[in-house]
Amino acid sequence: MGSVKDYFKGFGMGLRSLVQGMEVTGKEFLTKKVTEKYPENRDNVPVAPRFRAILTLTYDAEGRHKCISCGMCQRSCPNGTINIESKMVELADGKKKKQLVNWMYDLGSCTFCQLCVTNCPTGAITFSNDFEQSVFTRELLVKKLNYLPEPPIEPAPAPAQPAAPAEPAK
Ligand code: SF4
Ligand code: SF4
Repeated sequence: MGSVKDYFKGFGMGLRSLVQGMEVTGKEFLTKKVTEKYPENRDNVPVAPRFRAILTLTYDAEGRHKCISCGMCQRSCPNGTINIESKMVELADGKKKKQLVNWMYDLGSCTFCQLCVTNCPTGAITFSNDFEQSVFTRELLVKKLNYLPEPPIEPAPAPAQPAAPAEPAK
């Protein structure tokens, strides 16, 4: 059976522990709050500029991108997230060139490793920090990144017509 001394010793320890706990609570009560009121603050929620949310194909003001359909990003990707479809077109000078048809990206399987961005020779792709990417089905996570129409290719010159035969002399 415990003595009166043990009783007060235990009481003192309990009181000390309570004061220590209240000290922590009081400190947090006075600390500046950092909780984000999302989604109410959707328009100005702070997101780190370099946060990798989704891969994007960059367009300039004239609606042109820098992708040359080389397929380097697709080959660099460790898990088949990228699928580049292209076709050969003939230029005005008769030379042939690859033209992008579909730049397909599966956000659902991307691991955000950025190997594709690092290995792109033209800097055509980058990560956006647009973090609101929730959808209801996995199919909707497969995205076509070249969402603008490709600029028209200058048509190849028409083949030269044979010269008309000269009129016989009278
Ligand atoms: S995004 Fe870059 S690496 Fe990928 S196909 Fe286009 S140019 Fe090549
Ligand atoms: S970030 Fe990595 S996983 Fe995602 S598409 Fe690029 S290479 Fe593939």
